[in-house]
Amino acid sequence: MASANANLFIVAAPSGAGKSSLISALLQRAQEGHLLNAAQLSVSHTTRLKREGEVNGEHYHYITVEQFTQMVLQEAFYEHAKVFENYYGTSRVAISDKLSQGIDVLLDIDWQGARQIKKINPEVVSIYILPPSKEELYVRLVSRGSDSDSVIDSRMQQAQQEMSHYTEFDYVIVNDNFTDALEQLITIVKSHSLGLAQQQVRHKDLLASLLKQ
Ligand code: GDP
Ligand code: ADP
Ligand code: 5GP
Repeated sequence: MASANANLFIVAAPSGAGKSSLISALLQRAQEGHLLNAAQLSVSHTTRLKREGEVNGEHYHYITVEQFTQMVLQEAFYEHAKVFENYYGTSRVAISDKLSQGIDVLLDIDWQGARQIKKINPEVVSIYILPPSKEELYVRLVSRGSDSDSVIDSRMQQAQQEMSHYTEFDYVIVNDNFTDALEQLITIVKSHSLGLAQQQVRHKDLLASLLKQ
């Protein structure tokens, strides 16, 4: 799955590192026209319960385990994985249509999904977000106010194992100061839009006129 003028990005992090906040700020910048390409987040399917404030179809497509299993059998997923006792998956249609329209697609997925996609699509650009410390990770999970104490404890316990996979990614960002981390994320996304193939598509008319005898 590739496109002449759009890229597929994977953003992974331990829960609470700030991945969702960074992605949403990046999408805001894209919407304001500050990035070279339009960008969209792929909405995953999950069997996890909806959190307060989450909207079906916007944050996730919330489905049952039976529906998830059916989609796996139908090969509807580009990748899927079990994370924190729930199933998560990226549907193929969520990305192929967008890429073919020249829209950059961001995937907020875990390291297992990243590994599956890297294997079938080596062109994917993968980014790992780290927290500035374990203590700060805990503070952020608590301050987000969306998970119970037991869920937070379990996510903290899994953070070390999740973070040990950072070496499988192309880029690493430490999300200490949010503005700095956002600039770093934007730099990575923009730089991948400036490659020869994409610039040839973007500046087709200019190149034709510059090179005309
Ligand atoms: P968060 O950690 O607070 O962002 O919690 P979420 O419930 O949104 O995500 C739980 C985990 O599932 C994270 O590690 C995500 O990266 C991962 N995840 C979400 N969507 C997908 C997906 O489509 N595929 C895979 N493989 N992992 C996903
Ligand atoms: P993730 O999607 O990785 O689980 P979130 O984006 O939900 O993480 O961020 C977890 C919490 O930390 C949120 O309350 C968010 O506002 C906060 N946060 C994110 N980045 C920073 C930062 N650089 N400094 C302080 N707080 C942050
Ligand atoms: P949460 O339940 O807090 O929304 O997400 C927990 C983790 O699941 C996050 O790290 C998130 O990136 C991951 N995740 C969400 N959707 C998917 C997905 O479609 N595939 C995979 N592999 N992981 C996902």
